[in-house]
Amino acid sequence: MTALVITNADVRTMDPGRPRAEAVAVRDGRVLAVGRAADVAAAAGPDARSVDAGGRTVLPGFIDPHNHLLSTAESLASVDARYPGVAGGADLVARIAAEAARTPAGQWIRAFGMDDAKYPGGRPTRRLLDEATTAHPVIVYHVSGHHAVVNSAALRRRGIGEDVTDPAGGAFVRDEAGRLTGMVLDAAMERLLPVAVDIGCHGPNFHTDLPREQLLGWLEAAGPAYLSAGVTTVCDPQVSARELRVYRAARAAGTLPVRTVGMPLSHDLDRLTAIGLAGPFGDDRLRIGAMKFYSDGTLLGGTALFGTPYGEHGEFTGSSYHDPERLTDLVRRAAEQGWQVAIHTQGDRAMAHTLAAIRAAVKAAGDGVRPRVEHCGYPTPAQVREFADLGVIPVNQPNFLYDSGTDFLRRLGAERAHRLQPIREELETGLRPVLSSDSFVSSLRPMETVANAVLRRTREGGEIGAAQAMTVDEALRAHTADAAYAVGLEDRIGTLAPGYLADVTVLDADLRVTGRDELRGVDAWLTVLDGRVAFAA
Ligand SMILES: [Zn+2]
Repeated sequence: MTALVITNADVRTMDPGRPRAEAVAVRDGRVLAVGRAADVAAAAGPDARSVDAGGRTVLPGFIDPHNHLLSTAESLASVDARYPGVAGGADLVARIAAEAARTPAGQWIRAFGMDDAKYPGGRPTRRLLDEATTAHPVIVYHVSGHHAVVNSAALRRRGIGEDVTDPAGGAFVRDEAGRLTGMVLDAAMERLLPVAVDIGCHGPNFHTDLPREQLLGWLEAAGPAYLSAGVTTVCDPQVSARELRVYRAARAAGTLPVRTVGMPLSHDLDRLTAIGLAGPFGDDRLRIGAMKFYSDGTLLGGTALFGTPYGEHGEFTGSSYHDPERLTDLVRRAAEQGWQVAIHTQGDRAMAHTLAAIRAAVKAAGDGVRPRVEHCGYPTPAQVREFADLGVIPVNQPNFLYDSGTDFLRRLGAERAHRLQPIREELETGLRPVLSSDSFVSSLRPMETVANAVLRRTREGGEIGAAQAMTVDEALRAHTADAAYAVGLEDRIGTLAPGYLADVTVLDADLRVTGRDELRGVDAWLTVLDGRVAFAA
């Protein structure tokens, strides 16, 4: 194969031995040369194809270490109910009515991203959704993915009447008169849309049972959204049999859009142990990585577990998925099998449970555990110091601070809210915190994440933890080289050096002259995946 040379570029290699370069060449799926333009051209040979980047910034392809790829594909194929496009009940009704007009009667309508904390009229109800359609069952997912609101047709379709009882770990919300409002919480959601797998009490179940062909089509259609944002690798932090079957089929069909690492959820630990399987397993396109565990719930949903309750009236105490001894037992047993471990943890009280589990895992299995803490919302200063002893990787999502920072300030109080995702503190303690999106919960565009890590501002323009801001260079590293370490692939992706896999993102900007307020709008100009041009603006 002839080489591809990207020249006249501001190359940020993430290679400490040569941090900056003028050009990069790839051939046969590998980085061939990085360095001065003349040297790279000579290495590539006279028949190489050359692209003049016009001074744009070139990075290793972005790695998103916490991105629900298949669920994102589903959400991209559904009604977009995200704020600020949908800022209240009337907007929601309008979007759903428009979808109903082009959807055959009786077919489900699904919407993603509802952020009702921002609605002036408060939480929407089934009656409101009934104004949009009575001919289609409708489910609108809360932005956290843990709650939903449905219309009356959806309740009817699933045979749910006023006499329904709440399942363990979930609830059907009722009004003062005791009638169903259409709001369904956690485990009750499975009664609305049947799920493809039983995950017990190990986490929220968004593994909706849908036809394989439909999921495959949506996954392929999601490709351009990832590649045009410069993403070349994702780690799906919660894969069940549903996701793995679709990813394997897509891989076989050549339609898996990016390199994909999957984290099985802890409900599969015993089954995988029984057949002797543990991560890492697979190849450079599709592999199994760490095992995923849940400690507590979500910040937005009020289920994150804090030592001091939160909410405007202290109404949120939070909840945990396992009692602490059980969490420790699960995590330690996984580590003994050879798994890297990744534990969803938001509040400080849940963090204490998580750290006890990680201590046991590291004691049993040593440094190979490479423990990740997903979201890592509110570790105390003492907990951050303990991260350093245990080699913890905080997996942060600064988009949450932008999307919901104003709500966090109100609900958690200024002192706690400004220390959410204390990234500066983590860097100063010697940790390597990484950046991710948690898409479909938030935007999958890496430069939006980078902007939010650098700016630490809310959507409304207020500050949220400005003292914890990253520099642009730190943020880029946390979304490439350090993200590669978090997914266990630092020997082949995340750095532009000879021999690394040829994943290259050319940004549509020269970061040497891009203002901080312009970062958010930057996408890819050219994306090379596995040595091939996968996207060109
Ligand atoms: Zn997630």
